[in-house]
Amino acid sequence: MTRLQSYLLDAWHPGSEPLRPLVDPSTEDTLAWTAAGGLALGPALDHARTVGGPALRAMSFAERGALLKEMSRALHGAREELLDLSMANNGATRGDAKFDVDGATGTLAWYANLGRTLGDGRWQVDGEAERLSSGARFVGQHVRLPRPGVAVHVNAFNFPAWGTFEKVAVSILAGMPVLSKPATATALVAWRMAQIIVEKVALPPGVFSFLAGPAGDLLDHLGPQDVLAFTGSAGTGQSLRGGDRVLAGSVRVNVEADSLNAAVLGPDVGLGDDAWATFVRNVVTDMTQKTGQKCTAVRRVLVPRDRVQDVVDALGQELSRVVVGDPRVDGVTMGPVATEAQLRDVQAGIHRLSAQARVVLGGADRVAGQGAPAGKGYFVAPTLLVADDAFAATEVHRHEVFGPCATVLPYDGTAAQAARVVGLGQGSLVSTVYADDRDWLGDFLLGAGPWNGRVQVVSAKVADQATPPGMVLPSCVHGGPGRAGGGEELGGLRGMDFYTNRVAVQGDRGLLNRVFGGGVFGGGVSGGGVSGGGD
Ligand code: NAP
Repeated sequence: MTRLQSYLLDAWHPGSEPLRPLVDPSTEDTLAWTAAGGLALGPALDHARTVGGPALRAMSFAERGALLKEMSRALHGAREELLDLSMANNGATRGDAKFDVDGATGTLAWYANLGRTLGDGRWQVDGEAERLSSGARFVGQHVRLPRPGVAVHVNAFNFPAWGTFEKVAVSILAGMPVLSKPATATALVAWRMAQIIVEKVALPPGVFSFLAGPAGDLLDHLGPQDVLAFTGSAGTGQSLRGGDRVLAGSVRVNVEADSLNAAVLGPDVGLGDDAWATFVRNVVTDMTQKTGQKCTAVRRVLVPRDRVQDVVDALGQELSRVVVGDPRVDGVTMGPVATEAQLRDVQAGIHRLSAQARVVLGGADRVAGQGAPAGKGYFVAPTLLVADDAFAATEVHRHEVFGPCATVLPYDGTAAQAARVVGLGQGSLVSTVYADDRDWLGDFLLGAGPWNGRVQVVSAKVADQATPPGMVLPSCVHGGPGRAGGGEELGGLRGMDFYTNRVAVQGDRGLLNRVFGGGVFGGGVSGGGVSGGGD
């Protein structure tokens, strides 16, 4: 049986016992094993810092981008194998698996293209030079320089492919070597992807390391120029952020955590409008895609009070068509949740919400999965609840059920109240609003916008072309305030801020101009660097 290995110090290491099983959540069969310790993580991080970092920083943006392109191509070449592994280890349907795997290769390709556009530079020039004395010669120029440390990435179980490579793409383009750790339970896809890029891509030594299995003492070796990018539950994020080494070294930490995302139906959208159809389709997709195990999935559905029954009927009709089962079986449209622990969490979460909201479809019971062995598999039904009072249903705004579950919440139709209810979630990754009324939208965005990292506005004219709100695009930032972790990833060039330090260099304008390259002070791409501030 497959035993996952870690790629550290430019070699594969099996690690030591005890071993942890990786399970197929549809059949409960063990697929592979991974070690839980015995790895020299301190020396591995040092190797990345001292060998991988200098190699990467010597490369131009275009050269780093070329590495990303090679990675994207190599992984795309193994697409079918990766989709099969995702169906087996994540319980993903083929569509869900594509969302993860193609998301990874697409994001790598997008950043590869950005690298090509940035060209020969190796750092970013940040804005215009500031005049610092009465003469014009002595100036201060801000530049963004890659941190001479290692980027440690700790990822959640739900997106082993995209989660790994959306972070890898940005770090490598910014000039930082990476140590990537997927969640243990679903590490099979990420591990196979790591194997492929190590075999097929001409990565300079030390640029890429991969840890299979628990983190062990990994974070005890972090230093002041390292960064930690974490995706996972708020509780783990909080404890990692407060770690001794993190605090002592002021290690930069980015946390992407839980999120109670909202879909808000505006009062001007009528039954049968295009925006109505998109609203119903998006909510159903968000609840069922990846069996609701998506950080961006909608958990709260805000509806003007007089439309609640229409919405429940429409969602109920679509959700009743969902076929739960082994995703490799024809006709199945939603797989199991990824692990037994996850099943227990989802069941407990539905019980918790149902103390304050009525279950109108589904429920907390484990269900039989189509095509799965009798009594096996971590299957739950899509579950819709309705709370009669959005303000009294405090658990709905507090507890993320990381499964196919959402709650309909009535509001009075005003933008102010909709925004207040969204804000009760204490910070989300994304909310979607379905409306056309300009004044209503302005009030809503002013109130609800700051509680979100991203807001999608679906109006009549874009109802048929808007990307699904759960889709995270490399060109727009991903992250959210408060409960969502307070982090920010992606967003084109913006994502590279995390991996670089802004330094104010004060000196002679002419000399700095020669150091940083011809076009430094004029903005735009220069000889030595590239202007920051967005793409
Ligand atoms: P989790 O239990 O917090 O685990 C996340 C990662 O942290 C795993 O790789 C885990 O490793 C690792 N970890 C746990 N304890 C650690 C420690 N003491 N030191 C170092 N690493 C440690 O979260 P999860 O269950 O995998 O993911 C589900 C959660 O992630 C949901 O709440 C979801 O909302 C959130 N999420 C957020 C985003 C986002 O972008 N905001 C995206 C996806 C998911 P092991 O697996 O080896 O324990």
